Amino acid sequence: MSTLTVSVVTPDGPVLEEGFEMISCKAANGELGVLPGHIPMVAPLTISSVRLKHENDTRLLAVSGGFLEVRPDKATILAQTAEDPASIDIKRAEEAKQRAEQRLQANQDDIDFRRAELALKRAMNRLDIAR
Ligand code: ATP
Repeated sequence: MSTLTVSVVTPDGPVLEEGFEMISCKAANGELGVLPGHIPMVAPLTISSVRLKHENDTRLLAVSGGFLEVRPDKATILAQTAEDPASIDIKRAEEAKQRAEQRLQANQDDIDFRRAELALKRAMNRLDIAR
């Protein structure tokens, strides 16, 4: 089966570069499936999981936003953060979730509320993927 090279990069450096048969991810306007030969495009990603399929293996990554750039033989995911399930620290994510929930309950200004909402999404996404 044909593959496309998927490169995942964060501000901390490269996360992976391997061939996969399919990418499933969540763009801002909905679920997206990308196969080799896809027309070139750029899509903003949400705080969500990215699934990378190769033969019978599926790799999962927690990403917190960024962009997917697709060319027919190569896709690049430029993510703010990207972790595979094994590198997610569950305790840290649980603590981040609790902090965010407390901030959301407190009556703060809009900026803090939005920040807490995003922190909660990141924590819940990590917990979903790690478990
Ligand atoms: P925290 O409040 O725990 O830092 P956060 O959502 O604010 O959580 P980010 O700003 O998204 O953290 O990420 C900062 C760095 O820490 C990134 O390199 C990210 O991959 C890493 N990171 C954050 N949370 C976890 C976690 N639970 N397990 C592993 N790595 C994490």
